[in-house]
Amino acid sequence: MSLEKRVKQMLLANPDPGKIKKGISLVLLKIFLTPAGRFGTRAFGSRSEKKLSLILYNHARRIFKSPHSSVFISLFGPIELVHAFNLLPFSLEMLSAVAASMSLAPDLLARAEKEWLSSDFCSFHRTYIELARTGLLPKPLFCMATSHTCDGTFKSFSQVSEYFSTPLIFFDTPYHLDMNAVKYLARQIESAVHTIEEITGRSLQVSDLERAFQNSNRARKALLDINNLKRHHTPLIYGEESLLFVLVIGSLLGSRAGASLYKAYMEELKKRADARFNKINGKKRILWLHLKPFFPNTLMKYLERDLGAVIVAEEINSVYWEELNIHNPWESLAKKLMSNLWVGSIEKRLNYIRRTIEDYQIDGVIHFSHWGCRQSNGAVRLIKDTVMEYGIPFLNLDGDCIDSRNYSEAQYITRLEGFMEILG
Ligand code: SF4
Repeated sequence: MSLEKRVKQMLLANPDPGKIKKGISLVLLKIFLTPAGRFGTRAFGSRSEKKLSLILYNHARRIFKSPHSSVFISLFGPIELVHAFNLLPFSLEMLSAVAASMSLAPDLLARAEKEWLSSDFCSFHRTYIELARTGLLPKPLFCMATSHTCDGTFKSFSQVSEYFSTPLIFFDTPYHLDMNAVKYLARQIESAVHTIEEITGRSLQVSDLERAFQNSNRARKALLDINNLKRHHTPLIYGEESLLFVLVIGSLLGSRAGASLYKAYMEELKKRADARFNKINGKKRILWLHLKPFFPNTLMKYLERDLGAVIVAEEINSVYWEELNIHNPWESLAKKLMSNLWVGSIEKRLNYIRRTIEDYQIDGVIHFSHWGCRQSNGAVRLIKDTVMEYGIPFLNLDGDCIDSRNYSEAQYITRLEGFMEILG
């Protein structure tokens, strides 16, 4: 019986938490060792993808081996700070995606519902809250979350930190990006540094902060180069594989490993471009908005291998922030957080969509609207109108990234086929 099945059985039988912890650690290590296989892209086998697997494996192993150094964080938080303290950040949203990829999420969500967690609440949150409550995760040193990109984070992280009896550092991210707002957030970041110094008993070293900023800037530069290469007229990589690299943004931005990973990924794409790589037969160029289902499914594979379309740009991999500035560190980090496309006015997202359609010669746009997420589905009508200005088709796929219980592959496939027919 596979490890996954054994852990699933253990979860259902609700046995000794100590045993579960050991089981889930093994499974997580296995998953991180081969994340590409888990997310359905093993067939690509690119070198940077293997490097990603190895680096994530080492990261996960270190977290389970030294939980006193691990920090549970929310996606897009100021993780450079965590790396500057030589601690190990671990994105809980990404952990939910891993649980979904192991088909564990439906059981976890069913349990959460029995505990009165509303099914209207985003399944990323419900899954990690339940994962924490089952005792499957090592106790972190502290939790760190921001109110961007979604309001639910405070409630969810409060529950997780309460369960573990660990401190919660929370950032209230303002809606509008102006100087007052930047200063307000920068003060919170500075105060967080003092809190972390108290928790760890160590002072932040300027050289460590500088190193984390440099790593983050190197990763940013490589990601910019990657996105430029992806404009190439011949698609260089499938979007399904590209989306995997969000795992780096989730936990490794600010680390040397994250920077070297993006560099390896960029160099691989550059070699492909120089060699006039033509192994990907994409006829139609797609912009993919928001995330994707992380449980086992063939949606993107069908789109990219069978229907002849290739996702050449993904919103989640866009570089929306300026370089970090070590001479003004807290404001610089604050600006990075507030530049996120999902924070503030919808015009930010719409402008990104306009730019990308023009720069990448996009033929069609697909938006995956995750259930319960106002960031993703709250503005679909405005997004559709913007895409229509360019006379290209738009497809909105309603669904859930984590919860597979209502997923009907046949329905999605019919809609993708209809979309491709319109694309001609
Ligand atoms: S999918 Fe939406 S609601 Fe869920 S964690 Fe992400 S931003 Fe928040």
